[in-house]
Formats: sequence, structure tokens, C-alpha cells
Amino acid sequence: MQNYQIQPVGFIQSPYKQKFAIPRQPRLVPQAKAKLVFCGDFNREEFVRGIEEFTHLWLLFRFHETADKGYSALVRPPRLGGNERKGVFATRATFRPNGIGMSAVKLEGVEYKNAQLALLLSGIDLLDGTPIVDIKPYLPYSDAMIDASAGFADTRPETLMTVSFSEQAEQFIAKQTRYPELKEFIINVLKQDPRPAYKKQKQQTQFYGMSLYEFNIRWQVDGEHNQVIEITRE
Ligand code: SAH
Repeated sequence: MQNYQIQPVGFIQSPYKQKFAIPRQPRLVPQAKAKLVFCGDFNREEFVRGIEEFTHLWLLFRFHETADKGYSALVRPPRLGGNERKGVFATRATFRPNGIGMSAVKLEGVEYKNAQLALLLSGIDLLDGTPIVDIKPYLPYSDAMIDASAGFADTRPETLMTVSFSEQAEQFIAKQTRYPELKEFIINVLKQDPRPAYKKQKQQTQFYGMSLYEFNIRWQVDGEHNQVIEITRE
């Protein structure tokens, strides 16, 4: 067996500070903005010359948070309610040999500021601090397959959940000015229903928390409804 060494070309700065509540694929929440900050030898504009001609990029990255937990041949895709098992190579599960993830994301811009090269991205599904191992332009003529079908994951996950905000949450959002899209962002994250599959069958009210940017967000789930109870600064 041949072993390879891979070094990151950069790291992701993301509003998603923990795995819980990150959407299961990119582009489901367009307000999820991130910065890809280049490191070491890769912090040079030559590496990205011409990249702004592309609207979308493929990111190859390391599932760094879970990589040391290894892999299994069979996994339970959340799409199947967590009950049925599929082969890891028939899924996009994070627990896989080599722990490599890939996401097609939108390129919003290229930044070179204070001798630091960065790509501005949106629609990401990546945890803060994710190491990026490669970047490639998305090629619609080859990568977009309109006749493709995808079995148990053929359609975009349904977002039937509704979202409302408490008085406190509304005021908190209105007062902060740093993230103009904060409300839309929270709504779209909660509409994805981040709860684990087995919790979705439960009837009673459930309480959850997540951090986005520097905020702690607490909400309650009642049937198909999410009510954001409280937002605080960390
Ligand atoms: N689009 C990628 C990721 C799919 S799995 C692919 O298909 O390969 C998506 C999940 O990855 C998210 O819900 C999030 O919880 C998890 N995730 C994102 N970044 C991660 C990281 N750095 N380490 C471990 N898990 C991560």
C-alpha cells in the first residue's frame, strides 16, 4: 500500500462554529459566506490568476473534525431517516477513507489585503477551520449533468419547517449591523431542520442551540415550527 502526504493550501473561516446545524450540502443556504485564507507557499496571487473568470469552484477538503474517528463500510444516510444502511461510497457521509470532502461553492471575489490572499465564497457547508487541500474551477459543460439521477438523494431536501423570532431575537438582529443577512441566514439554516433524524419523529417540544459567527442562538421546535427564543453574544 502506498501512503501519501497531503498539505493544506489554505483554511476556511466560516460562520459555522460547530458541526451541528451545518447544512448537509453546499448551496442550500446561500447566505453562508466564508473566506478561504491561503497559507505558506500558496499565499501568492499567482496561484489564483484567472480564477475570477469562474462563478463556482470545487473545494476539496479534509473533514478535520471527524477524520480521526476513521470510517466504516456502511453508513446511515440522514435522508433515509437514519434507519437504512448504504455503502460509504454510495453516500456523501463524512466518515470515509481518507476523510476527504468536496463542495461546489460560489466564488464571490478574490481578496489580497495586508499580504494575505483569500477567496470570498458563499453557499458553503464547511466548518470553521476546515483545511482545504485543493481548489478547481467548476466546469458546467462537463460537471453539470442534467440527465443524472441520484436515487435516495435525488431531490433537494424539503424545507417545510417554518421559522419565527421572539421579541428579543428580533431586536438583537435589528441592533447588530455587521451581518445584514443574519435573519435570512438563521431562517434558512433552521428550515433545513438540523435535528438528527431520530429526533424528528418525536412529538414533544425540543430545545436546541447553535453558534453562528459570534452568536449563540437558541430555538425551540414544535412539530413543523421553529421559534428562535434567544440570541446572545458569545
Ligand atoms: N459537500 C461535502 C460535505 C457533505 S457532508 C461532501 O459531499 O463531501 C456535510 C457535513 O459535513 C456538514 O453537515 C458538516 O456537519 C460536516 N462538516 C463540514 N466541515 C467539516 C469538517 N471540517 N470536519 C468534519 N465535518 C465537517
